[in-house]
Amino acid sequence: MKIPFGRPLIGSDEADAVKLVLESGQLVHGKYIRDFEEDFAEFTGAPEAIGVSSCTAGLHMAWLALGIGPGDEVLVSSQTHVASAHSISLVGAKPVFVDSEQTTGNLDLKLLEGLVSERTKAILVVHYLGTPVNMDIVGDFANSHGLRVVEDCALALGAKYDEQHVGTFGDFGAFSFYPVKHITSGEGGMVLASNPEHARKIRALRAFGYQAKDDDSRAKGLYDVDQLGMNYRMSEIHAAIGGIQLSKLPEFLKAREANYDRYASNFRTLEGLGWSFLDQPRDGTFQSSHYAFVASFSLLPSISQGVLRDRLSERGIGTSVYYPHPVPLLAYYREPQTKVENYPVASAISYKSIALPLGPHVTEGDVDFICGALRDLSNTADMGK
Ligand SMILES: *Cc1c(COP(=O)(O)O)cnc(C)c1O
Repeated sequence: MKIPFGRPLIGSDEADAVKLVLESGQLVHGKYIRDFEEDFAEFTGAPEAIGVSSCTAGLHMAWLALGIGPGDEVLVSSQTHVASAHSISLVGAKPVFVDSEQTTGNLDLKLLEGLVSERTKAILVVHYLGTPVNMDIVGDFANSHGLRVVEDCALALGAKYDEQHVGTFGDFGAFSFYPVKHITSGEGGMVLASNPEHARKIRALRAFGYQAKDDDSRAKGLYDVDQLGMNYRMSEIHAAIGGIQLSKLPEFLKAREANYDRYASNFRTLEGLGWSFLDQPRDGTFQSSHYAFVASFSLLPSISQGVLRDRLSERGIGTSVYYPHPVPLLAYYREPQTKVENYPVASAISYKSIALPLGPHVTEGDVDFICGALRDLSNTADMGK
């Protein structure tokens, strides 16, 4: 693929750092994880950041730390990665899915009131493709119903609402360093905790439930355990890669922003052919981190998603779909009475759009090339089912 949808940009500095870790013999509990956590907290302005093995692990622990479990319901966007919903199901609680808003694909805040029950305990806010959700509205809603707030920021590193980094509004925020996210550590994630007590709980849960106060005795192999816990830690090898990637994030974000703008200006002509795109605002209030550019052909009934992606692939252009189904329509979550019509906006995104590459591996010339291909293909007859 000439222009893959996503590709991690790993340089020799990441390789050198990994070599240093391997030579040091200290593969966990070392300075790389401490430095990465500190730098991440500083970048996001959070009181504390805790390195973990994945975003999913981070979300799972957030619910455990908040005491969410069987019998509880958690409101969550239907247009998200299945991991958001799975994190809720893993603790025995029930995800209650919210359809999306048309303009950005984020959860439709107007629907929340109608979905609250006496079992609702929390809301999982997903900043879809890095476009921040209006956290003032979420905060007011959560306060009025006594709900906890957790933020899934897997695609939102660098995104801000009202000048404040996402992931710092709720009780917890979780980030992903999977290879095609904004930065990578191979696999990995980071949890932001809103206060020291929350952070202490995550540190214990990620390491077998070790009592967090006795760091020194733990190092000597002497510890006590007063709760269940997992092994959800991040190794020094992963942290070394992640730390260097974080230092490159500002330049990655600049490239994403420039590519997004380039798409948006190309789409002025494509709109005349029936194309539209999901808005990723960048103003005083909403600062998107521009994960992908979602091009919608819902006004072009003659185009089939599969054929379109094949034709683009033949031209060397990688695409993706975010996400291939609304989560409530996935086999694991689908109830017998659930229909596509229950989630009309999320379904339109899943079935009538494609996500185009805009990561730092993509040049503005690539964007023009991709948009030129869309323009050509819109006019050809063989795009149908
Ligand atoms: C990728 C992704 C996840 C999962 O992240 P992992 O680090 O792979 O666990 C969760 N939520 C969203 C919205 C994602 O895009």
